[in-house]
Amino acid sequence: MRKHIVAGNWKMNNDLAETETLITALKSKTKTTDAEVMIAPAFTNLWQAYQTLKDNDVIEVIAQNMHAATNGAYTGEISADMLKSIGVNTVILGHSERREYFKETDASLAKKVDAALAKDMRVIFCFGEELADRKSGNEENIVGSQIKNALFHLDASAFKNIVLAYEPVWAIGTGETASPEQAQDMHAFIRKTLADQYGYEIANEVSILYGGSVKPANAKEIFGKPDVDGGLIGGASLKAEDFFAIVNAF
Ligand code: PEP
Repeated sequence: MRKHIVAGNWKMNNDLAETETLITALKSKTKTTDAEVMIAPAFTNLWQAYQTLKDNDVIEVIAQNMHAATNGAYTGEISADMLKSIGVNTVILGHSERREYFKETDASLAKKVDAALAKDMRVIFCFGEELADRKSGNEENIVGSQIKNALFHLDASAFKNIVLAYEPVWAIGTGETASPEQAQDMHAFIRKTLADQYGYEIANEVSILYGGSVKPANAKEIFGKPDVDGGLIGGASLKAEDFFAIVNAF
């Protein structure tokens, strides 16, 4: 049975005090849920977040990014070992903002995925088409090639540590959401793409999250689709009430 997951990507928001405040609010709303719940604060606040949540077995603290190298002269970067040393075992890779502003490519992301898996980390791998691709009917080609280029060098066994996050770029932070049907169609295509390479036994075990303006008002309908296994949540993860309303949509 694949897992339901709701992960909050805080991006470059919340200083240390704000991180504490939001986590305290999240803790007060935590109840047992059948979904795995994750939050991704900024690097500087990961350790504090981990400490604050040590006695909470529902919310996992995860990272927004990491470097592919194990260590060395990469000013400003963070390695998998550094994350693991503070209790962070899951990392988001390939977010569209990383691709757009920091020029991450499928090839560079393949190296990051390898580096994370080599340290037994779990990867939430993000991808998705831009508006022009969707308008020209090219969304499946784009998504298919992002997955193949970054992940298809992996052995089937690696997929036990991979979560996929389909995030159409046109729906991120725009208030515009893919319809539940659009999300389901793409998630089914993603699962088939995986199955064509690795078989349905593997593909059916991989959680595929949807990301793009998920809110309390639309989460239930989106999560109700058979191939949508949860969400990667940006803006709405910054409000404890909204985030847990989304978690509870399962
Ligand atoms: C995201 O950045 O991963 C995201 C889905 O953002 P939002 O929910 O704000 O669209």
